[in-house]
Amino acid sequence: MNKTSVLIVGAGPAGLAAAITLKHQQPETEICVIDKASEGGNHNLSGATVETDALAMLFAPINPNWRQSPQAQEILGYKVTKDNTMFFAGDKFAFNIAFSIKIAEKLNLNFAQMSHEGNYILSISRLVKWLCRVAKDMGVEVIHGFAAEDIIYDSAQNIATGIKLVEQGLDKGGKKQPNYIAGETICADVIVLAEGCDGLVTEKFIEKAGLARRANQLYSVGVKEIIKVSDEQFKKFTTGRVVHAMGYPLWTPVLGPGMFGGGVMHPVSENHIAVGMIVGLDWKYCDFNPQDALTNFKNHRFVKKFIEGGTVVEAGAKMIPEGGFYSLPRTPQTSAVGKSNVLILGDAAGFVNMLKIKGLHNAIKSGIAAGRAIAGCTSNLNAAASKYTELLNMLGVMEELKQASRFRQNVAKLGPLFGIPISVFGQKVPMFKVKKDYEVMTGRKYKYKPEKNYDKTTFAALAATEHREEQPSHLTIVNGNTCAQKCKSKFDSPCITFCPAGVYETVGGQVKAANPSNCLHCKTCQRKCPLDNIRWTAPEGGGGPRYKNT
Ligand code: SF4
Repeated sequence: MNKTSVLIVGAGPAGLAAAITLKHQQPETEICVIDKASEGGNHNLSGATVETDALAMLFAPINPNWRQSPQAQEILGYKVTKDNTMFFAGDKFAFNIAFSIKIAEKLNLNFAQMSHEGNYILSISRLVKWLCRVAKDMGVEVIHGFAAEDIIYDSAQNIATGIKLVEQGLDKGGKKQPNYIAGETICADVIVLAEGCDGLVTEKFIEKAGLARRANQLYSVGVKEIIKVSDEQFKKFTTGRVVHAMGYPLWTPVLGPGMFGGGVMHPVSENHIAVGMIVGLDWKYCDFNPQDALTNFKNHRFVKKFIEGGTVVEAGAKMIPEGGFYSLPRTPQTSAVGKSNVLILGDAAGFVNMLKIKGLHNAIKSGIAAGRAIAGCTSNLNAAASKYTELLNMLGVMEELKQASRFRQNVAKLGPLFGIPISVFGQKVPMFKVKKDYEVMTGRKYKYKPEKNYDKTTFAALAATEHREEQPSHLTIVNGNTCAQKCKSKFDSPCITFCPAGVYETVGGQVKAANPSNCLHCKTCQRKCPLDNIRWTAPEGGGGPRYKNT
């Protein structure tokens, strides 16, 4: 297949919501979704508490009784009934500060968005598997194992004509093997970029088409473990509890590390609890590893009682786009999130609301907006991106992001101790200019370094990640001399420490991406190398993690 009407890059919640919406409105439209994972949901990892209004908006037009379907019952099995918003003061003391959210609700302050009550707890990986089935049943062509490499964009005409796929069957040196398959170009009338955070093709498109962000995108990385616990521990935790904990081990009121982020806990399934740590990539400590913070979080007295003695059965890592409203890539003249016949959705655009600590609802809504926009533009598909942006406004996505628009930048500039409280003033606070995440690294050391190094090999194995070994590395160190002459002396090669899969090592005195097969596709190295010296490209389709319940 080398021609389709609508080509969607990325079978995540946003891309599949677009496909489902469009197919429902225009059954005759040919829609193809391509995805680099070998199966639906394999590359999807998230928090995740979800506001189900977005799912209702997606499914109700197709099946008014969707909520009663066995799939919805299974996926939305746990409703939030115990919303623990905590502050950890040191490794023992924990305070539930949910009262501050109640006060914010009464005073109608932005902070009230932090409440998760009434939301549902789900596995995004399982959700995506379900969405894949729905889309396929409706007649959408969903093809797994095909990675996109570039967009064919005609800047004179201002339109995109297709997507080039990654070639397959090269050996490590780039020589064609008997199983070689050329990187075909799939042509399309409309292209939907829904690749997830820091999308390879999306970023190329932003550059080619002259889109701009008003503020630098800020990222965080989340590392997560699913732990099998005892009946007693699970009962004590309860199936309706979500924990979001600020403070230790990322920041403390006195002389703390001053990093943005926090720990999360939620039930996954019977006797399984997810424990995660999300850390803003604007950390300053060259020896910091997000998994060290996860270890500290797990050892906190409040967390430990629920998981001690448990077995980690699955793990993973991903980046989250945190910049919000001002970091959306837009066409300067029209403010469209995309351009002409190219639409940018979900995490690829950056629709995460960090005040809510959620983005899934907006990703799905962006898919609905894209599906409706394309259906409404058949006579002039070059108006699709503008129509899509209009619908994002109508569905409330833009307004919601606007309400939270300065939060992450305030914290980046002022640190969590001052940045978080000052955010109650919302839009009245000035818009601070922020640096890129990698620019703020220093030679300072993280003060809560655990005694034992985190076992990254086991972590990568629990993500079930694999790539065909005999292919060129998809991780490039741009200039080896920069690592040796500048990075080592100033920062002590931080990629070796922060990569959650232990991909980077010193080999023969040189820093190398020694274990590319372990890569989890989180892209942290591309955004946190302090000298901007690493590039992540897409490996052959089918490689990468194989998440099941994350
Ligand atoms: Fe993430 Fe880069 Fe490590 Fe891969 S190599 S797991 S993209 S930090």
